[in-house]
Amino acid sequence: MGLDWKVFQNTINGKQETTQQKRHGVNPATGENGPEVPVSTKEEVDRAMKAAADAFESWSEVPWEERKKAVLAYADGLEAEKENFAQELTKEQGKPLAFARAEVDAALHWIRTVATLELPEETVTEGDKEIVVRFTPLGVTVGIVPWNFPIQLAVGKIAPSVLTGNPIIVKPSPFTPACGLKLAELAQQYFPPGVVQGLSGGDDLGPMLTSHPTPAKISFTGSTFTGKKVMESASKTLKRVTLELGGNDPAVILDDVNIDEIAQKVAGLAFLNSGQICIALKRIFVQESIADKFLEAMVKATKNFKVGPGTEPDVYLGPIQNKMQYERVKGFFTDIEKENWKVAVGGKNPDGPGYFITPTIIDRPDENSRIVTEEPFGPIVPFLTFNTDADGIKKANDTSMGLGASVWSSDLERAAKVARKIRAGNVWVNAHLELDPRFPFSGHKESGIGSEWGITGLKAYCNTQTLYLKRKE
Ligand code: NAD
Repeated sequence: MGLDWKVFQNTINGKQETTQQKRHGVNPATGENGPEVPVSTKEEVDRAMKAAADAFESWSEVPWEERKKAVLAYADGLEAEKENFAQELTKEQGKPLAFARAEVDAALHWIRTVATLELPEETVTEGDKEIVVRFTPLGVTVGIVPWNFPIQLAVGKIAPSVLTGNPIIVKPSPFTPACGLKLAELAQQYFPPGVVQGLSGGDDLGPMLTSHPTPAKISFTGSTFTGKKVMESASKTLKRVTLELGGNDPAVILDDVNIDEIAQKVAGLAFLNSGQICIALKRIFVQESIADKFLEAMVKATKNFKVGPGTEPDVYLGPIQNKMQYERVKGFFTDIEKENWKVAVGGKNPDGPGYFITPTIIDRPDENSRIVTEEPFGPIVPFLTFNTDADGIKKANDTSMGLGASVWSSDLERAAKVARKIRAGNVWVNAHLELDPRFPFSGHKESGIGSEWGITGLKAYCNTQTLYLKRKE
């Protein structure tokens, strides 16, 4: 059954509901209001929690194979709605339509791949004794989602949670509520009431969910600042947490690369999604002997990126997703004059109505400056240099973050040696951002706790139980 894309509601216990108070997001390309969405209160939260807790009793007993079938059918349902999701995503998030379609494709790939993962019991037999390690569902989970990849990051929580037998309540970002609400609504066609629910609301909804006594786990993706609050709140009832937080990913570019080719790629990876990716390249370190040529090639590549509304063809950078983030990113542009930074390309932004920012490279700012130490989460990156490979490693690791990193070289052995020394959860050689749902995604240091996806990610939705079975008393 097709979804109605004019109405956006909560999903509680299998039903669509609205609330007395409403709010809306803003189309960041035009400044126009998005569709009205509910503002959930404690009353909605309590009812959703009760429905999820009831659903847990039966859903956790449904055999794995049946849960897997439901998850796969959900993916087919999403595929049938692909274009509607992509169009809505561009409207509410701002990303170019081609990238919005790619996000839905990635979501489909994530759901279908997660569904192929298994968590068999591990059995050891010794004489008359059998020891079995089981992975049992935790209970009700809450998925808290940010605004940069509202679809992919939501299904990256929904699929593993329900596959492992845990009902989930999804909370989209107040900036991008529409797609998240529709993901929960769509799920009603494939799962019993209470297994997948969706609640939208204001800034108070997240804390209401994390502090509620019912959930057994919070899966949170967002900023490090909020992640710490989530952990503190969850600690009151010892809820499990998976925290996927901010990043300040370095690219370490060794002196033997093909300069033009890699500069083009690195620029693309810094400015993709207008820099609003947790694992976008945010610090570019280039070995000194090739630095000038590399910067020149990066500038050339950057000048070719078109900025504009995501509905226009060939746009590479859509607007910044929301006003708050737009103002934050513009703060780094104000620093240009204050800090006397040298601008290699960009530096000036168009006037509204949309929240557009010109891709900008700052040439060798002080390494203690804000543009290097903080995550701008927008299309402005520092270009930096290093001397020896060891120096490159040291600079790459000089951060409290540890989400992603990449090393670029035509000598795989040399690059792999550097890669192994970098303290981050995802390290690529001659690539960046290329994720695979069969493998865990996690952050070191203040980039997170635990991991999502892969077998490790599935286990994070389970308790372990060790059964000691003896044949004779
Ligand atoms: P955010 O932390 O402001 O918000 C994330 C979500 O948390 C939203 O749904 C928000 O409503 C909710 N929230 C806000 N306060 C809360 C509270 N006190 N308790 C519970 N929930 C609360 O992050 P954002 O601005 O939406 O996203 C950008 C950040 O997310 C960046 O730092 C980025 O690096 C990070 N991010 C990380 C990953 C990852 O996988 N590691 C992926 C995408 C984005």
